Amino acid sequence: MPEKVIIIGSGPAAWTAAIYAARAELKPLVFEGAVTEENRLAGTLPLGQLSLTTEVENYPGFPAGDLGAYLDHSIAEDKRRFMAPHTKRGVSGPELMELIRQQAVNFGTRVITDDVVEVDFDTHPFKLTASQGKPGGKIHEALAVIVSTGARANYLGLPSEEEFKNRGVSACAICDGALPRFRDQPLVVVGGGDSAVEEAAYLSKFAGTVYMVHRRDQLRASKIMARRAIDNPKIEILWNRTVGEVLGNDTQGVTGVRLKSTAGEDDLQLEISGFFLAIGHTPNTDFLEGKIEFTQKKYIKWTTPGRTHTSVEGVFAAGDVADDYYRQAVTAAGTGCMAALDAERWLAARE
Ligand code: NAP
Repeated sequence: MPEKVIIIGSGPAAWTAAIYAARAELKPLVFEGAVTEENRLAGTLPLGQLSLTTEVENYPGFPAGDLGAYLDHSIAEDKRRFMAPHTKRGVSGPELMELIRQQAVNFGTRVITDDVVEVDFDTHPFKLTASQGKPGGKIHEALAVIVSTGARANYLGLPSEEEFKNRGVSACAICDGALPRFRDQPLVVVGGGDSAVEEAAYLSKFAGTVYMVHRRDQLRASKIMARRAIDNPKIEILWNRTVGEVLGNDTQGVTGVRLKSTAGEDDLQLEISGFFLAIGHTPNTDFLEGKIEFTQKKYIKWTTPGRTHTSVEGVFAAGDVADDYYRQAVTAAGTGCMAALDAERWLAARE
């Protein structure tokens, strides 16, 4: 018997879709991703981008406070045991994801800890192949599919950047920018697009000087956003600069950065306590290449305005895999809900 609905992914969109699908008695099966070294290096382990962040202060319903007892009571013992200690500063990204996952499981969601590596959307029921990342794995059939595999932030790929991830290196200013370690401190934002300006402007509310490091002599950001960066007295744009090395140590994390010049200038060394990347995101859609319509940037294309439908009837997309604009946990959860409702209605119309 084919599954009624298979959900691929394990961020807020996937689990929210699962909560709604389970409550609609669709008995969802979630492929939450495989725990592999390859996924770790790519930033695509189960529970998605939020599991790579620290405190989440903008998800509705979690004002600052001690959630210790709540986490102990609401999350299954076998998961809770492996979670990092609660910091008593409101919910953390990993805690939030375990809570949403648990909520989905409580309503009967079944979970397979594996990647879907191949899809066949030409036949119905759809066929999905899962196999710990290896070809020739087990095939699962589904009447409807919700894809919510998210997107991963791009990093420069420097070993020193990897070394200080979550210890001053972050690809999400909105997630991490207000942390105490960045308060009134000089910071770097790498990138010259709208995101870089937005992140620099956001950080400038808490930080000391925010250095925007851009590899060219002109911002990619829209004029209005570029003006916002240029006019902000706390933002200093360092033109024609690339990052040579992130500097730091085990106790303090990031302490500085060495910048190279693309215009023949000498290297420049800055003391900073935070290093933020805003050089774009890559959607996790490789396994869907040629199977479904993408946008120019390879995000899944929503084909009906205000709905989560895709170019394949019966396949729905939710969260960052189809959204390169808002990219927030709460918007991902919102579209996860929409995808489950869209799938439920689509299935009901076929009965
Ligand atoms: P983006 O427009 O693609 O800009 C990425 C920036 O990172 C570019 O300046 C690029 O430099 C730089 N970059 C890329 N790879 C790099 C590397 N390896 N080393 C150094 N620099 C590198 O991406 P985005 O800023 O995330 O924006 C994505 C989309 O969302 C855009 O359409 C944007 O307009 C939209 N957005 C809008 C708003 C808003 O309107 N409020 C806010 C955020 C995002 P180059 O310029 O040299 O290529």
